[in-house]
Amino acid sequence: MSTTTSASSRKPQGLQNPLAGPRRARLPLGRAQRWLAAGEDGTQPALPVFFTQSVLKTIKLHAASDMDNEVGGWLAGRWCRDAQAGTEFVVVEALLPAQQVRSGSTFLTFTHDSQVAMLSALEEQYENKCVVGWYHTHPRMGIFLSGYDTWLHEHFFPQPWQIALVVEPHSRQGGLFVRKDGELSPRRYSGFYELHSSSMDSVVDWTNLRAEPRPVPAQAETTAAPPPPVAAKPAEPKSAAAVPPTDDGATRPIEVKRVIAKPTAQPPQSEPKPPSPAAPAQPEQDPQTENKP
Ligand SMILES: [Zn+2]
Repeated sequence: MSTTTSASSRKPQGLQNPLAGPRRARLPLGRAQRWLAAGEDGTQPALPVFFTQSVLKTIKLHAASDMDNEVGGWLAGRWCRDAQAGTEFVVVEALLPAQQVRSGSTFLTFTHDSQVAMLSALEEQYENKCVVGWYHTHPRMGIFLSGYDTWLHEHFFPQPWQIALVVEPHSRQGGLFVRKDGELSPRRYSGFYELHSSSMDSVVDWTNLRAEPRPVPAQAETTAAPPPPVAAKPAEPKSAAAVPPTDDGATRPIEVKRVIAKPTAQPPQSEPKPPSPAAPAQPEQDPQTENKP
């Protein structure tokens, strides 16, 4: 706790710096697969959040790097607004894993050093991105925000569009915490949109999320329209896929194949672990205990 407190008094600039406003971009729905948590229907969320596939893969690797202690870091990307759709959204495009954290099986704090390192990485490598939130793991615990997590989120990530991702590496579960009307519910998580690169094969294998069935267009279901001949801006309003908000060179429309929703579960080397009664679950919900190193 002392570490966190000292970090908070010397909070790196930039974390809370409100940007001038969201970037103008189109919702990249045309090359995204939505993943739904239990209880979520197909209604578009108030703040759609898109994760690039490379970020999802890196989170998976980082989460699996320590199956006993919590790991985490910042999520970098863009806060955007699609004026036509009248909605704001977030694209997570890079990870800033925290290298020096104080962590244990049930807690994680970002030390001041780790924050400085992440901030300089952000400035050096991701000049045009901002911190859109953070992620951390809950080994052998559920998907929720503890009292301390909530405090950290409110303190370091206070913008309405800043998000928190929690991952459980053993059961391979994950969930996203997004403010709704300014309120954060520590027990209610949602899914997200997987933003595909060139391939439409999914990299998401979290067992608690299900793929939203994609609507099948009447005539062409496997290929998108061919690229426009010239770079002339088409007056066509609805092709979000043609105007991705990301930098990554995607000026061409992406060929959209349908994603087959894989049956969830069947972890390859799964140790069948009963959810909680047997496991030594020290729920993180007690902010006092988890802060103690
Ligand atoms: Zn936590």
